[in-house]
Amino acid sequence: MTEFFDMLREWPPERVRDLLEGSDCEQAVERALARPVPEAHDFAALLSPAAALRLEPMARRAAALTRQRFGHVLQFYAPLYVSNHCVNSCRYCGFNRRNRVQRRCLTIDEAVAEATVLAEQGFRHILLVSGEDRKAVPVDYFTELTVRLRQLFASIAIEIYPLAEAGYRRLVEAGVDSLTLYQETYLPDLYSRMHPDGPKRDFRFRLESVERAARAGVAFLGIGALLGLADWRVDGFYVGLHARWLLRNYWRQQVSVSFPRLRQASGALIPPCPVDDRAFVQLMIAQRLFLPDAGLVLSTREDAELRDRLIPLAVTRLSAGSKTTPGGYANKADGEPQFEVQDHRSLAAMHERVRQLGFDPVDKDWDCAYHSP
Ligand code: SF4
Repeated sequence: MTEFFDMLREWPPERVRDLLEGSDCEQAVERALARPVPEAHDFAALLSPAAALRLEPMARRAAALTRQRFGHVLQFYAPLYVSNHCVNSCRYCGFNRRNRVQRRCLTIDEAVAEATVLAEQGFRHILLVSGEDRKAVPVDYFTELTVRLRQLFASIAIEIYPLAEAGYRRLVEAGVDSLTLYQETYLPDLYSRMHPDGPKRDFRFRLESVERAARAGVAFLGIGALLGLADWRVDGFYVGLHARWLLRNYWRQQVSVSFPRLRQASGALIPPCPVDDRAFVQLMIAQRLFLPDAGLVLSTREDAELRDRLIPLAVTRLSAGSKTTPGGYANKADGEPQFEVQDHRSLAAMHERVRQLGFDPVDKDWDCAYHSP
């Protein structure tokens, strides 16, 4: 099987830009909209400036596809930040090791206390998040924590430093079923500039983490690019290619795409390529048209108004009531957050809102039953 890394070499940025520019006409957008399964050149047309004038028909088609594949169900999850220790210096992140922020690593008991608050609120899906510091939070930490949390949650996801296949296998054995790992940008030169030192400099090791996790038995794979670092059309195109490649090569797994939009954090750079709301909507519905079977995830980085507008169009999964500081739930810690949450509604308030919009909130995922070992 060709690795995605090799496939990426066939798609250098100049080729992607040529395709985006070459597809920038009304006819290309209409052809893409009429295609039952859009190909790469159709996807480029849907991301192009010409498609920005055709958002309404794109949105209608995206909504219809989402209802056809996912019904009216919306799933909720909460992130649990267990540590903000980090050995990397990502230029866009307030947790980077050069930044003077209050560092905290929760003990297992503290993390369980935080998770219990979330379980009591009704969450059944939890995402364990940490900065990249294997000494502060080794794999053993996550296996022990996962074992402690298994009875409280139907699904335990991780968003931590990339691992070798054996590490992912240990986490799967402990009960982890889901991985979120953003490539940040698929442009290798920009990636090098954004990650001046630390293990995260290794573009390929990060890129292939998702494949190693899939081989280790992780059932749900989440990818994305950090929106605001590069031209959103170019990185959005690569994310779509990556997701489709994963869906075709790891067809037993479920694949989802997230849309983390870079917000300014203290000690981090101003987004060099800001993405406005209209572009954000275009990106999300273009991904839906290109990836009808992928989950699309929207976090509380986005404000309530935009989230409410996007729910009927393409979203399948949402976070709610999020705190992005270790100890933010039970311990009410008020340290520097990784990013400022824009939508502060609780899980109960989100349930009520999505019901008003005609959707069914679910906290239990029955798919987990089919993926259990
Ligand atoms: S993005 Fe992640 S790896 Fe980079 S500095 Fe922030 S916490 Fe560390």
